[in-house]
Amino acid sequence: PSGSAQPWPDSGSTKQDLQRYENTDFPWSKEAQKQLSDVFQLCKFRPLQLTAINLTMSGRDLFLVMPTGRGKSLCYQLPAVCSPGFTLVVCPLISLMEDQLMSLKTVGVSAVSLNASSSKEHAKWVLAGMTEQETPYKLLYVTPEKIAKSKLLMSRLEKAYHAGKLDRIAVDEVHCCSQWGHDFRPDYKLLGILKRQFPKAPVIGLTATATSSVLKDCQKILSVPDPLTLTASFNRPNLYYEVRIKNVNSEHAMEDISKLILEKYKDQSGIIYTFSQKDAEALAEGLRKKGIVAQPYHSNMEAADKSRVHQQWTANKVQVVVATVAFGMGIDKTNVRFVIHHSLSKSIENYYQESGRAGRDDKPADCILYFGFADIFRISTMVVMENVGQQKLMQMLAYCHTLDRCRRTVMASHFDEVLDDADCNRMCDVCRHGNDYITVDITQHAREAVQIVELADSMSEKITPLKLTESWMGKVPLRRRKMIQVTTLSRLEVEAILAYLLMQGYFSEDFSFTPYSTFFYMKLGRKAALLKNDKHSVTMKMKRNPPSGDSVMVSRGTQRKGGKREEQTKKENGEAGGAPVGTSSNPFSR
Ligand code: ADP
Ligand code: MG
Ligand code: ZN
Repeated sequence: PSGSAQPWPDSGSTKQDLQRYENTDFPWSKEAQKQLSDVFQLCKFRPLQLTAINLTMSGRDLFLVMPTGRGKSLCYQLPAVCSPGFTLVVCPLISLMEDQLMSLKTVGVSAVSLNASSSKEHAKWVLAGMTEQETPYKLLYVTPEKIAKSKLLMSRLEKAYHAGKLDRIAVDEVHCCSQWGHDFRPDYKLLGILKRQFPKAPVIGLTATATSSVLKDCQKILSVPDPLTLTASFNRPNLYYEVRIKNVNSEHAMEDISKLILEKYKDQSGIIYTFSQKDAEALAEGLRKKGIVAQPYHSNMEAADKSRVHQQWTANKVQVVVATVAFGMGIDKTNVRFVIHHSLSKSIENYYQESGRAGRDDKPADCILYFGFADIFRISTMVVMENVGQQKLMQMLAYCHTLDRCRRTVMASHFDEVLDDADCNRMCDVCRHGNDYITVDITQHAREAVQIVELADSMSEKITPLKLTESWMGKVPLRRRKMIQVTTLSRLEVEAILAYLLMQGYFSEDFSFTPYSTFFYMKLGRKAALLKNDKHSVTMKMKRNPPSGDSVMVSRGTQRKGGKREEQTKKENGEAGGAPVGTSSNPFSR
């Protein structure tokens, strides 16, 4: 299903009622279709756009939840063009407003804005226009601050409303109303005044945040008594998701990626996202040496170079853009067949967004993420100032570590959407290969690792994840080695366990700032003390058959059967998967 409409509890609407809004026999239907092609130059509606447009044109209050980039704006811009007066659009940022005004200008729709930087004359003209016989613009963009602070604006809106000129009110990024959301803006809290003063003007709230608690909050704040909520699915059925383990040896990922591009993605267009500008340059250089037409892209490049790379890639003259996340805005290439992440994203939302640039033409495309231990800490220090930065990173880490759940259900549940594994259609590595894992008791390993951090602590030393890894593996001077229980685990197993313990709260992050950089140290987490208890145990899921078979853990751990589709595993492993299986000996690797 491409989306669903959920009436609010007690609203009395049913799915059947809503189905009728998918029709094209409304009084405005012909006009809407015509404007879609003539003005907006689009050939057909995307899922839920038509329903949303019909609902708001019918005068219903509406919340529209759709992933970014799917086309929410059209759902109020097209109605604006088909209505006699004007549409008031509340928009949180002047930059967003300017983007919209610019794109409306290119299609010849007249739209204006009022914000802190508007000139006096312009504001005067806009305010006067509101009540003119023939409204001189179709859309009026304002910041919430304007609504909150300008009595003049409110009084003009009042007049326009009573003159029948205020067609509807769109609240973009409506989640900004709610303190539960990630982008709370105090002035959004005051927007309830609009519905109270202009009860007959339909409200349409737009957001990519689907959390029901946030939406309920927004409904209350906006004083909208009985809105409908349309929720587009976040699922991208044509995208194949896979996570591969990145070796300590950074050349490994580079080799693997170039092989993929030369073989599986020969002549196909793609993006590789890297952590840093330096990585982007180096990787692009490495790929070029293999004969791949790759170009770097990052915010430190000259504007002209950036747009040249973008253009050449769009024209299929450059096969691969190796980019930092600066490469994002304004990409509307539809035939992107692969998005490779050379290191993990800072959150699942970011990953969804970045990987989602693949397969916009709805044809199959691959999203492959290389998960490396050291990258966790690079990202962690990068997001150190962000409010819930670490928490989001840990969720991203959990996505990478997943062995027993479909990757797209993990992603979907992040957006409060329920999918079951069948919806995946074996379009992720977990589903495709059968969830072939075992549960291993790692309690003793956890104790050993925690003891090393305690030891460092007792000597008033800070320990980096790298130092911890190496100490545990016995790569320390002899004197120290005597105090440490050295492990026989492989390096990748050590890394997997340390990452898992961090994710589970046995360790936590301890940042240290210098004028030029931030350092990540491991300290004991809130759960570390539990390990003192003999009865406490820690288990972790691991791949049953690591490709090279040299796992120490799998041969001696407590094993429990994992995957319910184990019987299928052999058969499916033989199939042409998303891509060839890597060669690392990591228990998580596929
Ligand atoms: P959102 O607000 O949901 O993030 P936008 O409204 O900014 O998304 O639209 C993103 C892009 O999708 C725009 O370039 C827009 O032109 C395009 N778009 C919207 N509707 C359609 C459609 N029906 N067909 C093709 N492209 C569309
Ligand atoms: Mg938008
Ligand atoms: Zn799956």
